[in-house]
Amino acid sequence: MDLQDFTFGINRLQKFYNKKLNPDQDEEYFQRIKNIPQKVFIRAIDDIIDTSRFFPAPGEFKTYWYQWQVTNPEQIDRDVTYCPDCHGEGVLYFNIKPRGATFDREYEYMVRCGSCENWKGEIGKWVPKKTKQQLEYIGLTVIPLRVWDTSEDIARDVRGQVPAFGG
Ligand SMILES: [Zn+2]
Repeated sequence: MDLQDFTFGINRLQKFYNKKLNPDQDEEYFQRIKNIPQKVFIRAIDDIIDTSRFFPAPGEFKTYWYQWQVTNPEQIDRDVTYCPDCHGEGVLYFNIKPRGATFDREYEYMVRCGSCENWKGEIGKWVPKKTKQQLEYIGLTVIPLRVWDTSEDIARDVRGQVPAFGG
């Protein structure tokens, strides 16, 4: 992961656990876990928030990464090329209010990254393909990290709004 990914994730933890790392701790923390891929880092954060009462030590991320490699061996060998737009994920996420929607809220959408082919074998071609520049050109802001809001409220809300997408 890069520093931007790390900062985004660690801020989420700092907010949730009401804790503030000083710049030295922040830097040390990053150095200790920077080799963990971005997508594993994000999932680890979700898991930690779900299950841990305390702000995690870097070792908890390392343990998570080790276990992830044991349980997902097929993904380690996947050919991922470096891509500054999607950080190797092959997917770009952004918030948008669905066209014709009558409610005032934005939802998270995704496209296949138009700058690489890291989506191959993972995401079907029915998902539109755009570059980060194309999205920004039409006024959308690409989300630096995928953060799922899995709360039941949101899920119910999205289900309730599906007709607003039109046929
Ligand atoms: Zn890409």
